[in-house]
Amino acid sequence: MIVVSEEQSSAMRAHGERDYPYECCGLMLGRFEDDRKNVLETYPISNAREEQAKQNRFLIRPEELMHGEKYARGKGLDVVGFYHSHPDDVAVPSQYDLEHAWPTYSYIVVAVEKGSATDLRSWEMESDRSRFKEEEIEVSS
Ligand SMILES: [Zn+2]
Repeated sequence: MIVVSEEQSSAMRAHGERDYPYECCGLMLGRFEDDRKNVLETYPISNAREEQAKQNRFLIRPEELMHGEKYARGKGLDVVGFYHSHPDDVAVPSQYDLEHAWPTYSYIVVAVEKGSATDLRSWEMESDRSRFKEEEIEVSS
């Protein structure tokens, strides 16, 4: 399970709307607690892909991830997952997303329909890396 505050959830939706029609992406910072992840902050990252590919492939550059991890450590937090948007598509990870995912982390996908964020769902990769399974989101206030 992943616990996301109303504020962080709105921040991810707003980022998706801002970068529409391109995909946005960013990190989720927080803490791993037993079998749940607590998202305390979001860390927006620009999309590193070339303009024409931006629409369906998000990529976080290693140096951007390193900056994010350093920032998180400075606040006593961990990177608990990644979020990105799917412009005019469903909030379900693509095959590309699966091929570029790591276990343990949560992947939140925000669907952005004609510029407005709709669905927001969280996914975790199966340990055999074969597919994503949906993860329950608890919204805290
Ligand atoms: Zn995707």
